[in-house]
Amino acid sequence: MTIEAIYKTIKSKGNRLSRVRKAIIETLFESPCLLSTSEILSALKSRNIAPNRSTMYRELMFLSHNSIIIKNTICHKDYFELPTDHHHHLVCTNCNSIKKVVIGRHLQKQEKQLEKENGFTITGHSIEFYGICKNCRINSV
Ligand SMILES: [Zn+2]
Ligand SMILES: [Zn+2]
Repeated sequence: MTIEAIYKTIKSKGNRLSRVRKAIIETLFESPCLLSTSEILSALKSRNIAPNRSTMYRELMFLSHNSIIIKNTICHKDYFELPTDHHHHLVCTNCNSIKKVVIGRHLQKQEKQLEKENGFTITGHSIEFYGICKNCRINSV
């Protein structure tokens, strides 16, 4: 998905593409994975856009409610990313680092099975694996 396609989706729903809104999408587009609220805020500052925290939070809520971006709460902290390439996360409970991982196709099979068994239509999922990362394991020895 291109960034223009994302802008188009927003406009087609009759929504404004404000400077802050555009900058948030650009920031997330350039990031391969989840960004925290403060990471987004500092990325915006480096673009000379400095919305206050509540304005930015309102924007993030608007974009996630409209399924333009994904909101993910990990260890009580909110993170955001674009749904452009589907993946999952390894979360270190020691240093709170998040690593992007891709799981094989057997997950899709499992989804099909779950839909069949429960008469349920799955529209998406979010999977996080919690544990201790390589760095923390090495440092704890
Ligand atoms: Zn991610
Ligand atoms: Zn760690």
